[in-house]
Amino acid sequence: MKIMKFGGGCLKNDESFLQVAKIIASEKDRPFVVVSAINGMTDLLLESVLNAQKGEKNISGAIGDIKEKHRAIVEKAITDQAIRKEIYQKMETMIEKVGKLLTGISYTGEITPAVRSHVLSYGERLSALILSGVLRSKSMDSVPIESDKIGMVTDKNLENATVILNEFRNNFRPAVQSLSNNKIIPVITGFFGCTSEGKISTFGRNGSDYSAAVIAFATSASELEIWKDVDGFMSADPKIVKNAHKIERLSYYEAAELSYFGAKILHPRTLEPLMGLDISVRIKNLFDPEGRGTEILPEAHEKDDIIKSVTYNRGIAVVRIHGPGVGYKPGIIAQIGHLLSACGINIYSILTSQTCINLLVDKKDASSSYEALKEMKGGVIDEINLEKDVTLIAVVGEGLLKKKGLAARIFTAVSKENVNVKMISTGASEVASYFVVHQDDTEKVVNAVHREFLE
Ligand code: ASP
Ligand code: MG
Repeated sequence: MKIMKFGGGCLKNDESFLQVAKIIASEKDRPFVVVSAINGMTDLLLESVLNAQKGEKNISGAIGDIKEKHRAIVEKAITDQAIRKEIYQKMETMIEKVGKLLTGISYTGEITPAVRSHVLSYGERLSALILSGVLRSKSMDSVPIESDKIGMVTDKNLENATVILNEFRNNFRPAVQSLSNNKIIPVITGFFGCTSEGKISTFGRNGSDYSAAVIAFATSASELEIWKDVDGFMSADPKIVKNAHKIERLSYYEAAELSYFGAKILHPRTLEPLMGLDISVRIKNLFDPEGRGTEILPEAHEKDDIIKSVTYNRGIAVVRIHGPGVGYKPGIIAQIGHLLSACGINIYSILTSQTCINLLVDKKDASSSYEALKEMKGGVIDEINLEKDVTLIAVVGEGLLKKKGLAARIFTAVSKENVNVKMISTGASEVASYFVVHQDDTEKVVNAVHREFLE
């Protein structure tokens, strides 16, 4: 079985919906389809939530906007009148519910993660409904499926949820059987599931990729296609590297490292449900369906010159925790982890020495990390500093640890640009080497590494 996931960039207007339908129709066997919300809808819903909190008067404009954007697609992409009418009615019912949720927010003046997730989930509910209607009007049997109604159970982390994979697989099995027996194409909502108490939980922005992987896991799919409006993973960001080129093939680990640290192609957690399985993942471009995209496979494949991509992340900050004895203090890392996780702060990476613990955190969490940790000052810790004007550079390729002289080549290339490297981590990952530089040096460094290995 093949899972085909279409992102917001593929769901922009009537034409792109029809292009998606054409691609699905050209499949030999009926695939399972997973969708994001239409382009820009999640942002619009998020904005509506914030505006509703400011006052009830803002709601009707938002609802009108949401309705209009979807209607414009349905009107042109669904040619069968009876189906169009049915979809309009179902859309109305859904959008009415969004209105009620927004009204609730305006009355209570409160935005909870549960209500925010619930409102946002309507972006995907609406796009799944519409795409399924488009497929039917092109004579394909299809049903929209809302992921909370098929037992996609998650943990209680409502805005960065994790699916309980085996439970979901068991819940979904009967539906999978009957859909495949009857040759029906399900169009399943990405981005959200629900907790065991029935609260809607979301997977973080761009989380539909993760949903698609979860569905690939649960259906024991052989293939997962992630359709986008770009060709695939690139050797570097083409916005800053002129000679960047598409990457043909990556391993799961390489793709995961690239996604975690900057490449905005896949949601960072997409590969998680697939680890240990043998599912071929392919990134495909909606506007070049014959193109090969980037293939992501479980097994490693070493390139002669090892390095496949250099990526960067301007969104991180370094928290430096100084103290002469930090290297000897048992439990100190646990204490730091505990204080930060209590504030919902994620640590990307930890680098320690005997006198300093360095944490990489999201830039937006930098100040709250400082606040959370400052109670530790005075004991073994005497100072905590933040560095926010930094960029994390990641150099990725299978075999990187085994290849002699690679680090020397990376840092020679960087030092020729007269750039100071503030911090280095090599060896923590088998396929990636990281370092931190001043943010103003980002372009220079990425280009230097790209020239050395990839041009
Ligand atoms: N619609 C959600 C978002 O924009 C999820 C996704 O696109 O994958 O973040
Ligand atoms: Mg999106």
